Amino acid sequence: MSVEELYREVILDHYRKPRHSGEVADADVTVEGVNPSCGDELFLSLRYEGDTVADAAITGSGCSISQASASMMTDAIIGKTVAEVDELLGVFKKMMTITEGDAGLDPDRPGAVLGDIEALQGVSKFPVRIKCADLAWTALEDALSQR
Ligand code: ZN
Repeated sequence: MSVEELYREVILDHYRKPRHSGEVADADVTVEGVNPSCGDELFLSLRYEGDTVADAAITGSGCSISQASASMMTDAIIGKTVAEVDELLGVFKKMMTITEGDAGLDPDRPGAVLGDIEALQGVSKFPVRIKCADLAWTALEDALSQR
């Protein structure tokens, strides 16, 4: 199986079985994200415990990329501190701006940091789909800014 095929499988798996679908009970913040160019929309709700993201959930509808990205994101941020989530946001954004021919992610930032999220790397080749992958993360940035 090629890397591209593997990535596609990971994306489809998250799309078919979103990991944290719904709304967080007693959420501290809920934000809406809309990507009109594709018709994706979602609501992200977060609950904090001190400086930690204790719970996160997504509800919404849209294409496989937007839904998979949201699922991966919730999986990745639950249990992390706000500072760690902020760092992850930075790594994700960097990944999405890598174009073919670039060196890629820093070697001192192993794929383990991103896990499944790495599967979205191929999306950066398709500018029109980047907004789909970005949607949940832009909502996350919005939610964090309201803290
Ligand atoms: Zn989309």
